[in-house]
Amino acid sequence: MGPTPRRRTVTANVGGVLVGSAHPVVVQSMTNTDTADIEGTVRQVAALWRAGSQIVRVTVNNEESAAAIPHIVEFLRMRGVDVPIVGDFHYNGHILLHKYEDCARALSKYRINPGNVGAKRHDENFTAIVERAVEFGKPVRIGVNWGSLDQALLTELMDLNAARPEGERKDAKTVMMEAMVESAMRSAALAERVGLPHDRILLSAKVSGVQDLVAVYRMLAPLSDYPLHLGLTEAGMGTKGIVASAAGLSILLQEGIGDTIRVSLTPKPGGDRTEEVHVAQQILQSLELRSFTPQVTSCPGCGRTTSTYFQKLAEDIQGYLRDQMPVWRDTHPGVEEMKVAVMGCVVNGPGESKHANLGISLPGTFEEPKAPVYVDGQHTVTLRGDHIAEEFMRILDDYVESHYPARVVETAGV
Ligand code: SF4
Repeated sequence: MGPTPRRRTVTANVGGVLVGSAHPVVVQSMTNTDTADIEGTVRQVAALWRAGSQIVRVTVNNEESAAAIPHIVEFLRMRGVDVPIVGDFHYNGHILLHKYEDCARALSKYRINPGNVGAKRHDENFTAIVERAVEFGKPVRIGVNWGSLDQALLTELMDLNAARPEGERKDAKTVMMEAMVESAMRSAALAERVGLPHDRILLSAKVSGVQDLVAVYRMLAPLSDYPLHLGLTEAGMGTKGIVASAAGLSILLQEGIGDTIRVSLTPKPGGDRTEEVHVAQQILQSLELRSFTPQVTSCPGCGRTTSTYFQKLAEDIQGYLRDQMPVWRDTHPGVEEMKVAVMGCVVNGPGESKHANLGISLPGTFEEPKAPVYVDGQHTVTLRGDHIAEEFMRILDDYVESHYPARVVETAGV
C-alpha cells in the first residue's frame, strides 16, 4: 500500500528545476523581505536555498522591486546559489515586466493571479504578462486565490447558478470553488492562445481551509495535465499552520495530486523563515515520497522514564543530523535514507531500535543504567556512564562514514 500513482502531467522547466509527475515533488518557499532590499533578500533566499528550497518566490510589487531583481539574481549566482527565482505579480505585472526588461529576463518564472490583473482590462493585462513569458521563454504559474478571485467570473457563475431550477442549484461555496477552477482553466487556455507552450504552464488554486483545499484540487486535477502547485494559503502560525498544511497537502499528495508544494507559515516576529521549508520536506518525507534528512524515531516518554535525558538526546541527534545534511548530501549520498531510533526504556526500546539503522534504548527509571545500541538490527555494544550521548554520536558518525561512501566535492562559499 502506498500513495496513488501521481496524476500524469507534463514537465515544466523552472530555471533548471523540473516540475511534473516524472520528477520528485518539488519544495518551494517565498521570502518575506522587501524585495527592494537587495542585501536582505539575497540573504533570505540563500538561507531558504540552504534549507532545501528548490525554488524561491519573491514579490515584485513595485518599480524598486523590479529594478532590484537582476541584482538579487546576480549576487546569488556570485555566491553559488543557483536557485530559480520566481516573481509574484499582482495588479501591475503587465507594466513592470515591460518596463524592467532585465527583471523579466532574470526571473525563472512569473506567477500571475488572474484575479489581480485588473477588472476592465483583464485579458489585455494578462496577455501582456504572458507575452513577456513567451518572449523570454519563461514558464508561468497561474495562481488563483480565493481571497482575490476574479469577481466578474464569480458573478457570471453565480448568475448561471441562480438561473437553474431550484432543486439543481449549488451552494455558494461550491460555486466559488467552480469559479476558481474555471478561472485557472480559462486563463491557461488564454495563455496558450497567446503563444505560451503547454508545458510552460503550472496551476494552483489556493484556499485557507483544509476541506476546501482538498475539494478544489480534486475538481481541478482531472481537467488537465498541467503540473499543480499545492499550498494552503494563510495557513497561520505555529502548530495550527503546520498541522493544517500537513493535513491538507498530505491528503492530496496521497491521492497523487501535486507536483510542487509550499507551506505558507506565518513566522513569529523575527522568526526563522526556513521553517516552512523544513515543514514541507517533513510532509514529503513522512509520506515516504522523498527523503531529505535521516529520520529520528523517538518514543513520547511516559511514567516509565522520568528523566528527560532521552528527549534531549533525540533532539540533539535530530539537530546534529540536520546541521550535517548540507555537507553530507553531497559527500555521503544516500544518508538521507538513514533511520535512527532513540527510545526511553526497555519496553519498546530494543524492538524499535532493531528496525532502525541505528538505535539506542536508554534506561528507564528503575532500569539498570545501561543503554544497548543496535546497528542494522544487531546489538553491538552497551553504553554506560556519563558519556552515552557523545559515544552514540561517534557510532553514528562511523556508521555514516562506513555505509554511505564519501564523495569528494567542491563546495561553494555561501
Ligand atoms: S519506550 Fe518506554 S519510556 Fe518510551 S513511551 Fe514506551 S514505555 Fe514509555
